[in-house]
Amino acid sequence: MLDVKKIRQDFPMLDGNKIMQGHKLVYLDNASTTFKPKCVLDAIANYYQNETSNSHRGDYDLCYNMDVKIEETRHSVSRLLNCENKEVVFTSGTSMSINLIAYGYGMKYLTENDEVLLTVAEHASNVLPWFKVSEIKGTKIGYIPLDESGRLTPENVEKSITKNTKIIAIAQVTNVLGYKVDIKAITKIAHEHNILVIVDGAQSVPHMKIDVKDLDIDFLSFSGHKMCGPTGVGVIYGKYHLLEMMDPLMSGGGMNAKFDMCGDVKYVNPPAKFEAGTLNIEGILGLKAAVDYLLNIGFENIEEYEHNLRQYAISQLETVPNIVIYNKEAEAGIITFNIKGIFAQDLATFLNSKGIACRSGQHCAKILINYLKEVATVRASIYFYTTKEEIDALVDALRKSGDFLDAYFA
Ligand code: PMP
Repeated sequence: MLDVKKIRQDFPMLDGNKIMQGHKLVYLDNASTTFKPKCVLDAIANYYQNETSNSHRGDYDLCYNMDVKIEETRHSVSRLLNCENKEVVFTSGTSMSINLIAYGYGMKYLTENDEVLLTVAEHASNVLPWFKVSEIKGTKIGYIPLDESGRLTPENVEKSITKNTKIIAIAQVTNVLGYKVDIKAITKIAHEHNILVIVDGAQSVPHMKIDVKDLDIDFLSFSGHKMCGPTGVGVIYGKYHLLEMMDPLMSGGGMNAKFDMCGDVKYVNPPAKFEAGTLNIEGILGLKAAVDYLLNIGFENIEEYEHNLRQYAISQLETVPNIVIYNKEAEAGIITFNIKGIFAQDLATFLNSKGIACRSGQHCAKILINYLKEVATVRASIYFYTTKEEIDALVDALRKSGDFLDAYFA
């Protein structure tokens, strides 16, 4: 059981003094980014105040200590995912991670005879890098159909595979509909056909226990900032032999073993092969603090708390007149809705006037709007520090959106 009252004391943004439009801030945009606990802020400040140095670039203690700390972060991430330290590559976030895989693996191995399968629910970051591969290599892009509720099922994956399919690139939890995908069943089907499964974990890794070995995932990407960590840092997990096969996207210092005037270059082994230049050291140290913090709270507790809060939110939201909820049955703490007759962005602006932060628009999933048959939606997304009172504030405000509607048409 989570003691949310106590947990909230760890977060300066939740100190009760943050005011938006004259109201106490109610933050319901956690799928976009999350608040940071004090231990993360302290880790970053400590780096600058007490231990500033580059990593991998000096023979003095400060620098050596930084190397050790970076490897300790890799170890925290490997505990998080159940993988080996050498399978953890630091990037700037999910977008960078997926681009690196698309460029480093996709561009190298895919041809015009091959096909990459996506879904219409993917975030731009898991679509556009594959479009680029398609543009340059001629590789076909296919879409696995969602079922009538918007869920990706293993059955539809199986039906969509052709003899040309080489990669399935899908989110474990999509950022608008929030269904949890059965990755284990999908990797099993894919691997029987020698297809790689590349998982966008931006919305799943922060919220649930993930065992990459058990799920048999080939590549997994996620961002630190969506899981209490700093912005500008993220991870690729890759099976080691795949990391060895993949080309770097960026070249430079730290990733080469030697090079000569003729242009012969020998790279170092992964993960350093993909980490050219000075690392985002403050980000990596902050990420370690965030991962350790979440592991200490326990992902079982986080999942259970968010599940119960979601159920509560749905039960309350259903009582709001004229509400349309697009993903009532989804598992993740993402609730996507509209109020009939009010444009989503106007509704989010109205919520802002009550101190409530929700996202509206297409949420970077621009192909999904055809599926939803809506131009835009409002998204409320929770984390383990969200309270029932904050849900009540949302529901109360939405009940009053009828008054807003009167003003809107006046
Ligand atoms: N994939 C999904 C499912 C996301 O929700 C997001 C962030 N909204 C991303 C990828 C991109 O993450 P980032 O902006 O941290 O690179």
